[in-house]
Amino acid sequence: MSSLSDPVISISGLGKKTSDRLNQLGIHNLEHLLFHLPNRYQDKTSITPLSLAKVSDEILIEMSIDRIEVVPSRQRQLLCYLSDNENQRILLRFFHFNQYQKQAFVRGEIIQCFGEIKIGRQGLEMYHPEYRLITQEQSPLLESTLTPIYPLCSGVTQAKMKQWVNKALEVLNTTVIDDYFEKIANNTLPSLKDSLFLLHHPKKGEDLSKIEAFKHISQQRLIIEELATHRLSLLRIKMARKAKKSNLFSINNSLTNQLLKSLEFELTKAQSRCIQEINEDISSPQPMLRLLQGDVGSGKTIVAVFALIQAVANNFQTAVMAPTEILARQHLQNFSNYLNPLGIKVAFLFGSQNTQERNEQLSLIKSGKAQVVIGTHALFQENVSFDNLALVVIDEQHKFGVHQRLSLAQKANITPHQLVMTATPIPRSLTMSAYADLDTSIIDELPPGRQKIETVALSNLRRDELITKIKHISKEGRQIYWVCTLIEESEVLRAESAEKTFTYLSDNLEDEKVVMIHGKLTKSEKEIIMQDFSNGKIDLLVATTVIEVGVNVPNASLMVVENAERLGLAQLHQLRGRVGRGAEKSVCILMYQSPLSETAKQRLDILRHSNDGFMIAQKDLELRGPGEILGTQQTGITSMKIANIVRDAYLLKQAGYYSSKMLSANLESQKALISRWIDEEKTHYFDA
Ligand code: ADP
Ligand code: MG
Repeated sequence: MSSLSDPVISISGLGKKTSDRLNQLGIHNLEHLLFHLPNRYQDKTSITPLSLAKVSDEILIEMSIDRIEVVPSRQRQLLCYLSDNENQRILLRFFHFNQYQKQAFVRGEIIQCFGEIKIGRQGLEMYHPEYRLITQEQSPLLESTLTPIYPLCSGVTQAKMKQWVNKALEVLNTTVIDDYFEKIANNTLPSLKDSLFLLHHPKKGEDLSKIEAFKHISQQRLIIEELATHRLSLLRIKMARKAKKSNLFSINNSLTNQLLKSLEFELTKAQSRCIQEINEDISSPQPMLRLLQGDVGSGKTIVAVFALIQAVANNFQTAVMAPTEILARQHLQNFSNYLNPLGIKVAFLFGSQNTQERNEQLSLIKSGKAQVVIGTHALFQENVSFDNLALVVIDEQHKFGVHQRLSLAQKANITPHQLVMTATPIPRSLTMSAYADLDTSIIDELPPGRQKIETVALSNLRRDELITKIKHISKEGRQIYWVCTLIEESEVLRAESAEKTFTYLSDNLEDEKVVMIHGKLTKSEKEIIMQDFSNGKIDLLVATTVIEVGVNVPNASLMVVENAERLGLAQLHQLRGRVGRGAEKSVCILMYQSPLSETAKQRLDILRHSNDGFMIAQKDLELRGPGEILGTQQTGITSMKIANIVRDAYLLKQAGYYSSKMLSANLESQKALISRWIDEEKTHYFDA
């Protein structure tokens, strides 16, 4: 007896090589084949009269063969002319064919063809249709259910995949499959078994447009189950974390008050609220894992500083990790400005450090003399050891993988408190599903007095007009960013294209100092340039998107972005946040390649009219999907089996409801649901 847990290799005719390929798709056993769902369907359940066919329809027709012809052009073609009894005509075109095929097309034979209707010079055509010669007793194409089309991998044909899935369905038919979700949903939704059968072979008459829109109740059931299970697994991680012990900080107000007094500004209400939320976490024995979200410039850094002085006051160390050296160095400067006057010792670790400096810093960290340590990935290298690390602050978390975050946390003797900050605001639906294991604090207001950045779109044909504007701004002593978004394929071409822009600007701006910064420079070269720009020694900085994150130069008041239509909205919003940091009115010019498509125009319009990072991120999510916003972090939600966080956002609320119900089901069911829906490779860090 076959069972759904049998490995795919148990299917007869399926060998080791194919099994390996399927494994790579996450298909290891027969049950996995059941969850390998079609991404579309063909309708071969009825024969369509050609008189009703529309161009680009995929249909099944039945006609008789009139004549064939071989066109002896450069690429030989076989043409087969068909007609029906209403005297409708169509031409089949084959670019590859053999002698046997050609001979089989005999005048008067009845043929069934399935393919897309195209229009050619002589009227309707089909290219390489699937066909059967009915009068030669080939089995008809007509089917009783809709035909599934599966996602494939190399070396696997549609026919094979269908055959294997059908094998799994056969086994399913005679198996009682555990339907945990149905129990949890109190039988209010279609059963798992029925849903799977329906989606692999929708019956004739089933509403295909609903299925194609993923709105069929059977799909909704699976989508809700998958979303709920993902959330369940994250909630379980959260529970597991809360069961651990961490260092409890007793909140100390004397350092806090000193810091407050030293600030040149008052905290916003939102900042104070976030600090309060963090204090509640770190003064409890359960480890904090909190996501701090806020738009560009909302002041996340100072909130982190308030958290880390609590660690200091309790004699613990804090590590602050940033994704790039430029940013880490900037943090070092900013944090030191706040911390040095309070007598707090700050150490730093960067990849580019020389051995002597590095060793000095390492010993400061190990001995515990350094109370705060700031750095890049260098922080979680093997030879770094802390005396008593108890708080980890991660900036721009989306640039790090989960594993990297964890390896820093593992430097602590007991689970540290963790504060992760995002550069990009994340839409609520995404936070709820991708970060359900984290608590969230949101800074939802900007410090007072911020000027709105005026944003304009400008065709690249009008680039010359910018020269006058740049000269004017530079005369007033303000600085300019010019961002090249390099679209060329190769590194060499890219460098060339940035070089061209740089030459163009240098040639036209004789009195201004123009400097270029890009990814191919060494860290210290980049560092020196950023320092010079920051000190006002450079008037115009031609940059690639390396400046995207966090860089703070308040005197820069104009940003020009080339080929803005190529970038994501969230990324453009980030870039734009580099200006508007000083008292001066700032302008961002989004240059585009003419002519601009309608959707590109809409996207640029969103930026022109809004400065609200959360709104912009939501639009970006709708337009480009979650991958763009979540970055490299493997959250699992970017590779779900059937659900799609954007398309199915309307089901998230229900999924949230069911995930809580799942959480109160027995442990066996929870584990079974998780192993059904989530690949093992993605679950192993869940226990960390
Ligand atoms: P981000 O949230 O983008 O990381 P930062 O923490 O870098 O923002 O803060 C941006 C700027 O705003 C910094 O120069 C900081 O000193 C300033 N800032 C932060 N909070 C306030 C506030 N409450 N009032 C005025 N300025 C503030
Ligand atoms: Mg920041």
